[in-house]
Amino acid sequence: MPTIRLNNGVEIPQLGFGVYQIPPEETADAVGTALEIGYRHIDTAEMYRNEKGVGEAVRRSGIPRDEIFVTSKLNNGFHRRDDALRAFDRTLADLGLDSLDLFLVHWPLPTIDVDYVETWKAMEEISRSGRCRAVGVSNFHAPHLSRLFAETEIRPAVNQIEVHPYLAQDELRAFGAEHGIVTEAWSPIAQGKVLDDPAIVEVAERVGRTPAQVVLRWHVQRGDVVFPKSVTRSRMEENFALFDFELDSDAMTAITALDRHERTGPDPDTFDYVPR
Ligand code: NAD
Repeated sequence: MPTIRLNNGVEIPQLGFGVYQIPPEETADAVGTALEIGYRHIDTAEMYRNEKGVGEAVRRSGIPRDEIFVTSKLNNGFHRRDDALRAFDRTLADLGLDSLDLFLVHWPLPTIDVDYVETWKAMEEISRSGRCRAVGVSNFHAPHLSRLFAETEIRPAVNQIEVHPYLAQDELRAFGAEHGIVTEAWSPIAQGKVLDDPAIVEVAERVGRTPAQVVLRWHVQRGDVVFPKSVTRSRMEENFALFDFELDSDAMTAITALDRHERTGPDPDTFDYVPR
């Protein structure tokens, strides 16, 4: 499994397993299956309500803790400093872990009454506490990142954003790369929407792979981190088999040409959902 070196030297497995929309009571089994298949990177969030299941699967697996990379995220209701510090403690307690590999600010929420710069300063405190190997952001646009660069000390290690063939995000990915920030691509197969696109089906037939493998391989070759979600063992296996084939530049170009700036999720500039 290839890893990518973050700006603080921590190595992250390039392929992981996402658990968004996996019901809490099914999470331990799904993550257990993923670990059996060979996934060593799990992407969860307080918002997904399934951190406990992730922790349970990690413990049950018997795999040494330092061989599994665990990411979680700060929920939208906890952007004030004190709330953020408490939320991080709760995340660790729910996971049942002493430390986290990566903790992210889930959304910038630029229109709410708490400034994400305050939130990021709390993330810096969390980082300095030594209980989290790396800190980063999610759904941040270039102007949001620029404010962090100007007003805080620690650079986010990653920016986790929506990226797939219908939303290639080349500008924001390049901006991140220029500033040492690794892009993590969420909804990498657009929740399945890109899989019957004729251009993707054509590449899949040509290379003898499935559409999902072709799209995930496209992400990998672009250098992004991905963590597709599935609860079906055969699909989890399919999504894991990405490192024994390559796409040529024609295939890469054909897939990138599908970009139509189409989101499956909310726009980070206006998203203001805060759970009560
Ligand atoms: P995804 O693009 O991974 O698609 C998942 C869906 O595609 C599954 O429900 C399944 O129905 C289908 N699927 C999966 N593998 C398949 C295959 N091989 N063949 C056919 N269909 C297949 O979408 P996602 O779950 O939204 O994104 C992945 C992860 O990204 C999430 O689990 C979560 O960890 C993360 N995420 C983060 C944010 C954020 O705001 N930071 C938002 C959404 C998702």
